[in-house]
Amino acid sequence: MSVRRVAALIGSPVEHSLSPVIHQAAFDAADVPWSYAAFDVAAGHADAALGAMRTLGLAGLSVTMPHKHDVAAAVDRLDAAAAALRSCNTVSWNGDELVGSSTDGAGLVASLAEDGIDVAGTKVAVIGAGGAARSVIDALGRAGAGSIRVVNRTPERAASACRLAAVAAVGDADDIARADVVVNASSVGMGVDPSSARPDDLPCDPALFDPGQVVVDLVYHPLLTAWLAEAERAGARAVDGLGMLIHQAALQQEIWLARRPDVRVMRRAAEEALAAR
Ligand code: NAP
Repeated sequence: MSVRRVAALIGSPVEHSLSPVIHQAAFDAADVPWSYAAFDVAAGHADAALGAMRTLGLAGLSVTMPHKHDVAAAVDRLDAAAAALRSCNTVSWNGDELVGSSTDGAGLVASLAEDGIDVAGTKVAVIGAGGAARSVIDALGRAGAGSIRVVNRTPERAASACRLAAVAAVGDADDIARADVVVNASSVGMGVDPSSARPDDLPCDPALFDPGQVVVDLVYHPLLTAWLAEAERAGARAVDGLGMLIHQAALQQEIWLARRPDVRVMRRAAEEALAAR
């Protein structure tokens, strides 16, 4: 009998994470004999969690807040994106070495590609400059975006994030109006019921939207944010944040298993879990 292998999420908190549902659905659909667990690991204990990975022979880790930077500092090697970001969301084995990777930004690019949207050569405006925005800016640069304009409440953080891509510069509202693709990578709108959203709950003024734009909200709770609904009303193409979540997980499975999981199965599992909440 083959022994089931275990992959796991480490973070804190983890109880509302969709990762266990998404990963397990893909393992089961492909008859991969892996189980996926979620471990609440307190801040400051990333090193111990990596030690547990070695001791217990865990097959792979997903990493979320607050451990992304600590894990990047503690693994044996980093892939190019994780090295640039000094942050990783994935740990895998290469022989006896632990390798840290960052699949968040690449997950967004892959999700857009699945929707037939190629970011190469496009003008992109990114709202936000935190961890999600940084991974997206790095990945958009690698994917050949023509220009990236970063609009953030705290300009110093926007300037810092711009150092991740040669085509990135600090931007403003005009850049949002001119962009082919607008990405909300800030946390504005998270957890806000669209029916009671106030202007402060929108990442930018919806008057900036244009019918030719692709408008992406990384916030996926709620799935259709008030800002995305405004984008749709303006005739823009609205893309929710679930695609990035699914594709960053799919890329993790590609790293762990060297095979592509079924992203439709993963998305269905995530939608069912969200609907049950
Ligand atoms: P973070 O590191 O805390 O960054 C938050 C960002 O939002 C910062 O740029 C911050 O601006 C900005 N912000 C927060 N409150 C604001 C306000 N009231 N007005 C203007 N700007 C505000 O968070 P994160 O990890 O990057 O996550 C950002 C969002 O992306 C979250 O909603 C998260 O759930 C989502 N996310 C989605 C996925 C996915 O797969 N779809 C993956 C990762 C994250 P300052 O710099 O000025 O503080």
